[in-house]
Amino acid sequence: MDLKTLFRRISPGAPLKVDGRNFNGAPHETRWTAALTAGVIACGMMLAPAAAQNPPYDLVLRNARIIDGSGREAYRGDVAISGDTIANIAPVIASDARRVIDLGGQVLAPGFVDVHTHVRVRRGIFEHPTADNYVRQGVTTVIEGPDGSSPVPLAPFLRQLAALPKSLNIGAFIGQGSVRAAIIGRVNRPASAQEIEKMRVIVEQGMRDGAFGLSSGLEYVPGTYTPLDEIVELAKVAGRLGGHYQSHIRGEGRPVVEAVQEAIAVGERGGLPTQITHHKVVGRTSWGKSVETLRLIDQARARGVDVTIDQYPYTSGHLSNQLPAWALEGSLDDARNRLKNPDLRIKIKAEVVRRLRRGGTGGDLTKIVFLHCAWDPSLDGKNLAEVTQLRGYKASPEDGAEVTLWMFEQGDCDRMQRDVMGEADIERILKHPATMIASDGEIPLGLGDPHASPTHPRSYGAFARVLGVYVRERKVIKLEEAARKMSGLPAQRLGLRDRGLIRAGMKADLVVFDPARVRDTATYDNPHQYAEGIPLVIVNGEVVFENNAMTAARPGRVLYGPAKQ
Ligand SMILES: [Zn+2]
Repeated sequence: MDLKTLFRRISPGAPLKVDGRNFNGAPHETRWTAALTAGVIACGMMLAPAAAQNPPYDLVLRNARIIDGSGREAYRGDVAISGDTIANIAPVIASDARRVIDLGGQVLAPGFVDVHTHVRVRRGIFEHPTADNYVRQGVTTVIEGPDGSSPVPLAPFLRQLAALPKSLNIGAFIGQGSVRAAIIGRVNRPASAQEIEKMRVIVEQGMRDGAFGLSSGLEYVPGTYTPLDEIVELAKVAGRLGGHYQSHIRGEGRPVVEAVQEAIAVGERGGLPTQITHHKVVGRTSWGKSVETLRLIDQARARGVDVTIDQYPYTSGHLSNQLPAWALEGSLDDARNRLKNPDLRIKIKAEVVRRLRRGGTGGDLTKIVFLHCAWDPSLDGKNLAEVTQLRGYKASPEDGAEVTLWMFEQGDCDRMQRDVMGEADIERILKHPATMIASDGEIPLGLGDPHASPTHPRSYGAFARVLGVYVRERKVIKLEEAARKMSGLPAQRLGLRDRGLIRAGMKADLVVFDPARVRDTATYDNPHQYAEGIPLVIVNGEVVFENNAMTAARPGRVLYGPAKQ
């Protein structure tokens, strides 16, 4: 222990014993000086054990079943916190502390780190800086800027977040799609060498502003217009500055194998770690392809490419509007004008019909569910078959396509595709040692309000669902391994050296849960329900959730990537 740490542990007025000598009763000044002098003397003769006899910690968590986030087996112990830091871990810590909480044998794990979130959507984090839906499932850090979409430049956004009193930590990626849009707009062509050079400058600035790496969303406009070579050029910049690449790959159904190959190629050619985000196999006819994708990932790892995966534990996913990418080039008005051209409209509709038939939902219009339609909230929660019938059509792919175009013209809606992933693929991906858990969620409109517009339950339950369903009920992975996938592994991927593990000296982001009770309660029909069995959450040493309520503490910080200046 260094003197600075010792100094922090000694608070005036607290009972003090250093190196066996009792300084109680002396005036404060004297005690401080005496303690430091003793520290100096004792440093050469094993100060640490002596000083640990009676440190006035801020918080001691007793009787914990410690799962440290490394994957190592749980063990019993007490954990002491000083300030924002884990100060001591021992079988028994009997010392005085400002506060002692007896965990009664419940699990104490590192706070969960969610590497793929959309918490800025509809200003979610600014509307609800307590992020209750995340904190209440044990998440203490959320990362924004996924799927190629981030603010550009990143710095003002991070400054706003830094000024925002918030319950959890937050960081961000710089998004390839957003960078591209900033330089050449939403155009369907490769960028020129000059344009790529400008994009490289923006990516570099994003990294220096504190991004953890470069994200891409290659199923979305404008990411989908980007050739592999162009992505590699930007990835090299992120990699050179210590960042990694996180990709929503180019296809998650029929082309999923080729799309995983592309993400591996970015890592290999760009010389940086690469991550397949929300890895899944969409559509019954493609189920089972995770055998092949995981084999490719294993082969890449074996030849030295640092490939990792994240995943959310649900069979339903988000669905973007079904229009082909070429029809969405340019502004929203450009796209709507194309639909006014009868010939183009026929072509676009034919493509939507094809997608409705051959996409993940396989022609079943009831599987496309609208979450939020700002222009007509009465459609929230209805499926495409219902809306098609409401419009006086029958629920065929042809009529569904007609209604899809009509909805797009009205202002469009958020939508989900229900039950398009198979459990066998989910379990196979979950078991892979390179897979971590990430929600792909948001802080929904009407947080916690049962009458709010529907949302994907992953925003409330992804982490708790893994613990309740995949660990306890189905025993797909062990509890310690699940905790590693939620804390140690994502922290390592982000390069957060002081988070993600329970170790002395690490930041005190911690979650307490009862492994027999922890569960997600958010369902597709009732999504706005918080996870259960997680009684206590600590961020940077401060309790942010206990007694079934968020506390007044707002200890969350902005976390910065490896090249932050
Ligand atoms: Zn995505």
